Amino acid sequence: MQRRTFLALAAAGGGTAMLSTKTFLQQAATGGNTARMPALFIGHGSPMNAIEDNPFTQSLRTLGQTMERPKAALIVSAHWLTPGKTSVSVNPGPPTIHDFGGFPDELFAVQYPAPGAPDAAQQTIAAVKSLSVHADHEMGLDHGAWSILRHIYPDADVPVFQLSIDWGKSTAWHYALAQELAALRDKGIMIVGSGNAVHNLGRVNWQDPAGAYDWAQQFDAFVQQKVESGDHQALVDYQQLGAVAQMAHPTNDHYLPMLYTLGVRDAKDQLSTVHHSMAMGSISMRSFMLSA
Ligand code: ZN
Repeated sequence: MQRRTFLALAAAGGGTAMLSTKTFLQQAATGGNTARMPALFIGHGSPMNAIEDNPFTQSLRTLGQTMERPKAALIVSAHWLTPGKTSVSVNPGPPTIHDFGGFPDELFAVQYPAPGAPDAAQQTIAAVKSLSVHADHEMGLDHGAWSILRHIYPDADVPVFQLSIDWGKSTAWHYALAQELAALRDKGIMIVGSGNAVHNLGRVNWQDPAGAYDWAQQFDAFVQQKVESGDHQALVDYQQLGAVAQMAHPTNDHYLPMLYTLGVRDAKDQLSTVHHSMAMGSISMRSFMLSA
């Protein structure tokens, strides 16, 4: 049940069989149910979004206030690439990693002190049968994780852990691995891909904050259409688009997280847009939710 449904039911209460509003709120706040958790794809864009108040970050705040609350959030971020292996962070107290340069001190001062989720991480390792997933005891939270989570869960009170991307493996390989994670949604774990549907840093135009090149719009529309129609194979085979795909993703580190979100999709899931905008010519901020 969605948290907003809890609230609506509580507001409509008055019958003796109804739990009190306070009890509903407590249940919602503690994640005290076992419903299937949503899966998200969030286009995180510039690290500056971590400290900005804009339509994108406002949409994340609304999301955190309205969607089902998980026991733990599993982030697959474009910024944790581990060629040759797949890792899961089991660190109970992941430090905030400032994995970028050239930004204001205010951004480097941000801390996101959410606890880790070692138990959920071990469940994740156990869920993957096709390969041996490495347990990483050191990894903290990269900015693909904390720059969005500090808006979704500003109190840093949802445990968080990350799964790395085995950089260099095929899109089909990543999609197949993601499918092995789908059952985690029934164990209170929310799966979040954090990347961008279009991401070409070399073509970023800082002078045009809301602009979009034609090829960026074209690829973003392709993603939208195929996500809406459920044509995952086309998204796995995105490189068949040729030059447009190459422009949209000169490297596909920011594309692959979306395949993890799609890989855990259930036929019964509702698709909803969390946010959509284009940024700086060559970035799509498209973000969506799959929910039961
Ligand atoms: Zn990024």
